Amino acid sequence: MLIEIESLKPEPLHVHHVYATGEINFTHDDAVLGEPVTADFVLRHKNLDLFVDGTVETVIRFRCSRCNKEFSRPFSARFDLSYLPQPKWTGKDSEVELKYEDMDIAYHDGVAFDVDLMVLEQIELAMPMKFVCREDCKGLCYKCGADLNEGACLCKNEETDSRLSVLLEFRNRKTEK
Ligand SMILES: [Zn+2]
Ligand SMILES: [Zn+2]
Repeated sequence: MLIEIESLKPEPLHVHHVYATGEINFTHDDAVLGEPVTADFVLRHKNLDLFVDGTVETVIRFRCSRCNKEFSRPFSARFDLSYLPQPKWTGKDSEVELKYEDMDIAYHDGVAFDVDLMVLEQIELAMPMKFVCREDCKGLCYKCGADLNEGACLCKNEETDSRLSVLLEFRNRKTEK
C-alpha cells in the first residue's frame, strides 16, 4: 500500500489495514508470521514531513531454540516515526538530524509513503534474535535428545561424572608439568 503524499489532507489520516498471510515479505530462520498482519496508525504531516504513530499486530509461529518445538505467540510492535523527504547532500547533514529530536527518522522519496515497507521494518525491528518458548525452557539433552521439560533423562548422572572426569584429567595434566 502506497499513500501519495500530495493527496494528504490537513487532518490526520487514520489507517487500519489488514494484510493477508504472505503479503508481508518477512523472512526469518526460526519464525514465520502465522496470521494476517494488522496495521493501525495515524499519519500526520507538516508539509512534506510525515509523522506516523501506531501499532502492527500479528501472531508469530516460531521454533524454540532450546527444545526445538513449534509455538505460536501474539506479536505486536509500537512505533512513533518521522519520515522526512530524502535530504539532498549539502555537506551539513546535522541540520536534518537535529530537526526532530528523540524520534526515529526515516526518509521517503517525496512522492509516496510506502506503508508495506514500514510495516515490514517494524516487524523486523521488534523481532527477537532468538526464540525461546519460555524463559526457563530446559531444552533437550545433548546426549539422548530427550525434552528435559518433561523430566530428567537417564543420562543425567553420567553427564555429571564425565564433566568431573574431564576436570580431574585437566588437573592431573597441570600437576604433571
Ligand atoms: Zn523450549
Ligand atoms: Zn539424556
